[in-house]
Amino acid sequence: MQRTYIGDLGSKATESVLIKGWVDVRRDQGKMVFFDFRDMTGTIQGVVLPNRAEVIEVAKTCRPESVVAIEGIVNKRPERNVVVDKVNGDIELEVTNITILNNAEPLPFEVNVDTKDVNEEVRLAHRYLDLRSQRMQRNIRSRDAVVNHIRNFLHDEKFIEVETPILTKSTPEGARDYVVPSRLYPGSFYALPQSPQQYKQLLMSSGVERYFQIAKCMRDEDTRGDRQPEFTQLDMEMSFVEKEDVMALNEALIIDIVTKLFPEKKIQQIPFPRISYKESMEKYGNDRPDIREDKEDPNLLAFCWIVDFPFFERTDKSDNPQAEGEWTFTHNPFSRPIDEHMDMLMEKKDLAEILTSQYDVVLNGYEIGGGSTRNHTYEALAKVFEILGHKTEEIEKNFGHMLHAFKTGTPPHGGIAWGLDRFLMLLLNEPNIREVIAFPKTGEGRDPMMNAPSEVSNKQLDELHIVLKKIDNK
Ligand code: ASP
Repeated sequence: MQRTYIGDLGSKATESVLIKGWVDVRRDQGKMVFFDFRDMTGTIQGVVLPNRAEVIEVAKTCRPESVVAIEGIVNKRPERNVVVDKVNGDIELEVTNITILNNAEPLPFEVNVDTKDVNEEVRLAHRYLDLRSQRMQRNIRSRDAVVNHIRNFLHDEKFIEVETPILTKSTPEGARDYVVPSRLYPGSFYALPQSPQQYKQLLMSSGVERYFQIAKCMRDEDTRGDRQPEFTQLDMEMSFVEKEDVMALNEALIIDIVTKLFPEKKIQQIPFPRISYKESMEKYGNDRPDIREDKEDPNLLAFCWIVDFPFFERTDKSDNPQAEGEWTFTHNPFSRPIDEHMDMLMEKKDLAEILTSQYDVVLNGYEIGGGSTRNHTYEALAKVFEILGHKTEEIEKNFGHMLHAFKTGTPPHGGIAWGLDRFLMLLLNEPNIREVIAFPKTGEGRDPMMNAPSEVSNKQLDELHIVLKKIDNK
């Protein structure tokens, strides 16, 4: 017999069927055994009647979360037993045969309830079990729906998805790089990308014109509850665009996702309000304001754009408050100033006054994305690096590829990246991004299931020409 998905049983009343899935619940009532069976499409109540002695025997040995193949007859439930508003609430399966495909041992925690109160370390150590729970299934499936929606939307808008390398070279995104030692080039290292920034800009030089990627980004920052060493961006870049074009397309995509996939949500204001960095700092004391009119409403989404950020700022002067500090970039060294301030960059004057074309999109007090239009000419980009204090040789060594590309016919371009995990966290009303990532690290950056990070063998170290210093805390 062919397998029927549990979600399709509604149309099979009176038929004999075969289902496959998990024992969600077993209620042994002596003469009869009741079950809830579960597969990825839903649950169904099953009952083994007293006249099926052999099946009852098997039913009694089958523990919760065992994987089973069940043959049975789909019966309409008597009127008084109908559970309204529940999928399959009006039918049940009269079980005629049970085959245990894999019996489950007692589990470290129950998965047929919400696991949010289970110790997180235990959940993460057994993440495959945790993901069986209904809320986590909803989260990973909603994530897939959002990503699928994004892919379709962007393809309809003439974008293509291009993969960029994971083993690459350090990019100046402002955080610390994860580095990977090279065996073939002893003493040399790859860096894991903090974002695909340089590659996506080079793809504009390649004539791709409209690029996106669901991209993994790695940043070796100090741990903080809601940070993950690796996270996912929706990364995109477009040629021949102004800031307004990128903002309009992204706003349309966000609205489309919310209205089609999360119809219960209400967007506070469309078009999204725009707030300058200065106004945001003055009025809210930060650059990711929570502008919700009603903070009690879990379905209210208050988006806004923050614009007109300063391009440069002085580096940390805390060691010596008298010192001026060097100039550094606030967001992205590849950004372009706003058009009116382009001359100031080229003449290197009033640096503190120069505003960048950067736009951040903020939702309910969280920055969920940011981007800018870029300096696409050699002269302008070189100017930024000069201001940042890079020596000519260093510029050539570190960014020669970008500068050369910009001399070979690179169109004006701009882009953005969304923090996809954060956006999903807010859409799904979850308290942190770990709840929307299938296999996250703990808040301290560990994976208790795989036991990562972990030591490597001396043989591996030898091959990599690495000698470890004595580590004090061992
Ligand atoms: N690469 C930038 C980031 O990761 C986003 C962008 O400017 O496109 O923040």
